[in-house]
Amino acid sequence: MTDQPTQRSRELHERALRVLPGGVNSNIRLLAPPVFFDHAAGCRLVDVDGNDYIDYLLGQGPNFLGHAPADILDAVDEATRRGMVYGAQHALEVEAAERMLQMLGWAEQVRFGVSGSESVQAALRLARAVTGRTRFVRFEGHYHGWFDNVLAKVDEGRAVAASEGQMTHHLDDSVMLPWNDLEAVERTLGGSDDIAAVIMEPVMLNAGSIEPRPGYLEGVRAACDTHRVVLIFDEVISGFRVAPGGAAERYGVSPDLATYGKAMAGGWPVSALAGPAEMMGRFGTGKVNHSGTFNASVMACAATVATLRRLTDDPPYERIASRGRRLMDGLSRLADGHGLDLNVQGLPMSFHAGFGDGPVTDYRSLGHLDAGRYDRFTRTLIDHGVWVAGRGIWYLSAAHEEADIDATLERVEAAMKATVS
Ligand code: PMP
Repeated sequence: MTDQPTQRSRELHERALRVLPGGVNSNIRLLAPPVFFDHAAGCRLVDVDGNDYIDYLLGQGPNFLGHAPADILDAVDEATRRGMVYGAQHALEVEAAERMLQMLGWAEQVRFGVSGSESVQAALRLARAVTGRTRFVRFEGHYHGWFDNVLAKVDEGRAVAASEGQMTHHLDDSVMLPWNDLEAVERTLGGSDDIAAVIMEPVMLNAGSIEPRPGYLEGVRAACDTHRVVLIFDEVISGFRVAPGGAAERYGVSPDLATYGKAMAGGWPVSALAGPAEMMGRFGTGKVNHSGTFNASVMACAATVATLRRLTDDPPYERIASRGRRLMDGLSRLADGHGLDLNVQGLPMSFHAGFGDGPVTDYRSLGHLDAGRYDRFTRTLIDHGVWVAGRGIWYLSAAHEEADIDATLERVEAAMKATVS
């Protein structure tokens, strides 16, 4: 590092503040230090001042194959030389859909979009069209995008607006329940005839990396069948990450509809909604609208095909899991050695860390961790070259090698020494 290790970032931040609200383009980035990056490769980020970081944010998840993967870049480069957006069909979108459906196994048709938020909206609209009902069940601590009907904070078990300007009455169409509580779902579906859908992250990766209790997903599946409610898995994080077929494969329970994003396209902005032809076909008749200028662009489909090809031909899942586990164990061991009460838990490809007593078993107990202290610790980690989110999630990629885990643990140890000294 130089005498002025963040000089260029600071200059850019000052310029950005004048032209970009808060200096960012997505509000979650307000929570991170204002570092500007110059480039990235594999699991390494390099900022405009030349500092390098080992990356465990991965762009909030999309860089599952690491940054700038050559095979994906080549595929997109070659495809886009023949055009980028036709507003009409092309062969790659068929191939992307076929590959995706083959990996999922349970679904028959797919519609591509650009962001997870939009695909969630398409899923909710389709569920309403299929059932002729209005309301939906969702869960504490699960994130489904930034639109008015899903963005929420939990206040005494109720969904309340999380943003000024939000149409709060849109939240009246949903029922917020604690997750992993089957009885709550059964009671709610049994007590109402206006529930169109149950939407959930099938493994709670946004908050705590908490797995479904044994039997929970099966029980919700059965309750949805009994009451003819559409079960939607929001697999925007878990899809293609926790298994080739996402959480549906990992836990052996198929939803009616599922949304995907992030890991499916090697970093490109692509999302998808998948489901059975009998439901998805309503988009095809034109009776249910799903639209978008950039849906299934050439670059999106080329990136999806190349990413899914890699995930099938050279599955990185075991490698990522073993490196993630080693990192989790290493973090716990180092924390113990420094007298820090760090709780590290969850799935190794997307685990959670926080200060306080663990394990965290639900959203409410997550609230007992010391979020402020952990956020401050992540700033020390960032100063020591480990780029990680302040909210607790750690993402692993196929590009994290054993040597990167070793290097990470060295940097973490230095950060812990600085924290306790
Ligand atoms: N659903 C889940 C589970 C997510 O984690 C996210 C984003 N973190 C979204 C939906 C929204 O996706 P996007 O940010 O692409 O709109």
